[in-house]
Amino acid sequence: LEFQPILDLKSNKISGFEALTRIDSDKLGRITPLEFIPIAEKTKLIIPIGERILKYSLDFLKHLNNLGYREIKVSINISAIQLMEKDFVRNTLKIIEEMKVAHKNIILEITESVFATNYEEINDIINKLRRFGVLVAIDDFGVGYSSLARVTELNVDFIKIDKFFINKFLEIGPEKSRIGDIISMSHKIGQIVTAEGVEYESQKEYLAKNGCDKIQGYLISKPVEKEAAIKLLKEYNK
Ligand code: C2E
Ligand code: CA
Ligand code: CA
Repeated sequence: LEFQPILDLKSNKISGFEALTRIDSDKLGRITPLEFIPIAEKTKLIIPIGERILKYSLDFLKHLNNLGYREIKVSINISAIQLMEKDFVRNTLKIIEEMKVAHKNIILEITESVFATNYEEINDIINKLRRFGVLVAIDDFGVGYSSLARVTELNVDFIKIDKFFINKFLEIGPEKSRIGDIISMSHKIGQIVTAEGVEYESQKEYLAKNGCDKIQGYLISKPVEKEAAIKLLKEYNK
C-alpha cells in the first residue's frame, strides 16, 4: 500500500491519508490498481485481498496513534463485491476491534457508481457501519451516473469530488465551474467535501475560496510509502 495525504484547507494540516494498493512484481514491475482490481473483483479474490488491505491500513493507523497522532484518519477503498459480501459488516467490525483502533478514524470509500445499482442494500450496509462510528465517503462523486436525488439522500460523512471536475476547472475557469455548487449542495446536507486530483495552485485557491474542506492530489503529494507518509505528517503538522 501507498498512502496519499489529504490536506485540511482550514488548518493547512494533514487530516488523513488514503490507502492505495499496488503490486510490485519481479516480472512485470509495478502494476496499478486500475489493472488488477477489476480482475480481483471478477475472480472474487478481492475479498481476501480486501481483508489484507484493511488490516494493513489499520496497522498504519495504529502506528500513527503510537506516534501520538490520534486524530489522523485513514481512508480505505472498498469495492462493491466486498461490500455485498454476506459477512462484510461483521468481519470489518471484528477486525477494527481486534486492531484496537478508533472507529471514528476510519473512512470507507465507496464509489458513487455502486449506488446506481443495489441502492437499498448498500444504503442499509452503510447505515450499519455508521451506527458503530465508522465513517463513509462517496468516492468519484459526480461521474457515477446515479440519480442525484438518491445520492443526496444517502447518509454519508464525506463526498469526494471526482478529478474530472478539478481537471475541467483548468479549461473552463471559475465562472463556469460547477464545483462551487457541488460544495454548497453537499454542505447543506452536512457532508464534508474533499476535492481529488488537485495539481495546481489555481485549483487549490478556487477550492479554498468556495469553502471546500479538504484537498488531495499531486500538489500536496503523490501516494507514498509508509515512512515517507509519516515524514510528510511531521512536516505539515508541526
Ligand atoms: P481513487 O480511489 O479515485 O484514487 C485516486 C487515484 O488518483 C489514485 O490512483 C491516485 O494515485 C490518483 N491521484 C491522486 N492524486 C492525483 C493527482 O493529483 N492527479 C492525478 N492525475 N491522479 C491523482 P491509483 O492509486 O492508480 O488508484 C486507482 C483506483 O484504483 C482508485 O481510484 C480506486 O478506485 C482503486 N483502488 C486503489 N486502491 C484500492 C484498494 O485498496 N481497494 C479497492 N477496492 N480499490 C482500490
Ligand atoms: Ca478513493
Ligand atoms: Ca476517487
